[in-house]
Amino acid sequence: MRAQAPAEEVDAVCAAVEERGFRPVKLPGEDRVAIGVLGSNPISLRDAIISMPGVVDAVPVSKPFKLVGREFHPEPTVVKVGAVEIGDSLFAVMAGPCSVESEGQLMEAAGAVAEAGGHILRGGAFKPRTSPYAFRGLGEDGLKLLASARDRFGLPVVTEVMNIEDVDMVSQYADMLQIGARNMQNYGLLEAAGRTMRPILLKRGLSSTIEEWLLSAEYILGQGNNQVVLCERGIRTFETYTRNTLDLSAAPLVRELSHLPVVVDPSHGTGKWSLVTPMAVAALAADAAGLMVEVHPHPDHALSDGAQSLTPHHFAEMMERLRLIANPLGRRI
Ligand code: PEP
Ligand code: MN
Repeated sequence: MRAQAPAEEVDAVCAAVEERGFRPVKLPGEDRVAIGVLGSNPISLRDAIISMPGVVDAVPVSKPFKLVGREFHPEPTVVKVGAVEIGDSLFAVMAGPCSVESEGQLMEAAGAVAEAGGHILRGGAFKPRTSPYAFRGLGEDGLKLLASARDRFGLPVVTEVMNIEDVDMVSQYADMLQIGARNMQNYGLLEAAGRTMRPILLKRGLSSTIEEWLLSAEYILGQGNNQVVLCERGIRTFETYTRNTLDLSAAPLVRELSHLPVVVDPSHGTGKWSLVTPMAVAALAADAAGLMVEVHPHPDHALSDGAQSLTPHHFAEMMERLRLIANPLGRRI
């Protein structure tokens, strides 16, 4: 519908859609208001709505994913996290420790991220660990530390939520909710997180295809929340020298398929700190929307993912290298 279509016109179309037994999902945008129509064979609806006031066009979507696809929404979606815009010319850098471990550790990491020009602070308070005996995070105390780091350094915060019961609590503290790779197909969690209307960072599952990943994002957009950033974090292959195989081609490929921004996580994607900067530079060259990178003041003593964490010094070096190539590529950092 026309972007200026008054609410009554939008509501009238939604009512016409519902009357015929389909589900409308309103997704307002800059250039127009899109109404997704979900249900089997909604094509029969076209004649009924095409001539209604405010309607510009009615297009069938052939792909299995609907709301996240370019067919439905051709213009790129910009996701706002605090004042940071992801999916535009900014190469958005989210950085911080894998886990929030203590006030000292978090403040040191957050200070380093802010000083080197990072845009969003990351840090896990609820950690999905392969072993139940490993450090599983500080829980709500960790969230409180993240909120105070946000206040001190002025960086919005992204943190993982693992359970439906925790969604409300985590969204009281976080500016963006992260759904981790292991929960990419936890559909109830995707819907509960989507309903908060907070921006969501959706990581690609450990062994998920791009189509499965986009269909997972579809669950969030189905709640009327289009503020979703996808995160490529490596997939499981036969290779053992790296923790995962970073599928960098996912960034430009998903850009063709979807209007949602894609960021790249070279920390989990490689498992080795020495590979993080080269892959971060490659992600910028591949036109990713940004990065998620782990930074720890003392990686050797990290309670999780030390081997892939950059020191503050190496993080600042990475940012310098990114700055060298951002401009010629038409990006800012
Ligand atoms: C993380 O970001 O610390 C994390 C656990 O990532 P993933 O879900 O990609 O493994
Ligand atoms: Mn980690």
